[in-house]
Amino acid sequence: MRGPIVEFTPADFPEGVNENGAIAFLDRDGVLNLGKSTYINSPDELEILPGAPEVVGDLRRLGFRTCIVTNQSPIMRGLWDESQLLLIHQKLRELFVKYDEDALFDMIITCPHRNRDNCSCRKPNPGMLQLGSKLLRMQPVKKFDSKQKIVEIDSKFEAVNWWKEKVSPVNELDLMIGDRNSDMGAGWAVGARLFRVPQSIGIKNVRNRIIDENDKGDYFNPIR
Ligand SMILES: [Mg+2]
Repeated sequence: MRGPIVEFTPADFPEGVNENGAIAFLDRDGVLNLGKSTYINSPDELEILPGAPEVVGDLRRLGFRTCIVTNQSPIMRGLWDESQLLLIHQKLRELFVKYDEDALFDMIITCPHRNRDNCSCRKPNPGMLQLGSKLLRMQPVKKFDSKQKIVEIDSKFEAVNWWKEKVSPVNELDLMIGDRNSDMGAGWAVGARLFRVPQSIGIKNVRNRIIDENDKGDYFNPIR
């Protein structure tokens, strides 16, 4: 089966900012832009949530790498294809830097599958976060050519034991921001600090928390 779609676009940090080694994993719909039950099907449907670009800019000014991890089942449903996805993401990036020049995304990973495809990348499975963690921290991934901007990776990941304790993260500051249980589950499975935001507000709601190094994030139990 095909793998997730990876847009690998690592960017320089703002002047004077040192990389802190952590990754901010961000859900897309309902966190960065307004989510819709009928999906975001074209660039014109994108509505950026107020304050989102500034928070992404803040994360980069703090030295975080930024990685969007998004489930987009319309692709496997046959509603539209990767080229449409890339147009949507191009517009998203344009809108973000328009509001805040530091609001850049180092990586966007998209799971194209439906529930029934039983993939390891559709959240709450952590495949996209594990992949982003490997690529952004420069551990070589089989078949990945970093000169290519867009790749599909057919990756198999370890099955998650949802009944065990939350694992330790690669970096203590790694975080996952999302509006759904599936986002929290994927973040939990890689040990990230979890921040749940209401879809009506988005990422702005947790700005002060995510930039606080002492905030360990929301409690989440994946089996409840
Ligand atoms: Mg969402």
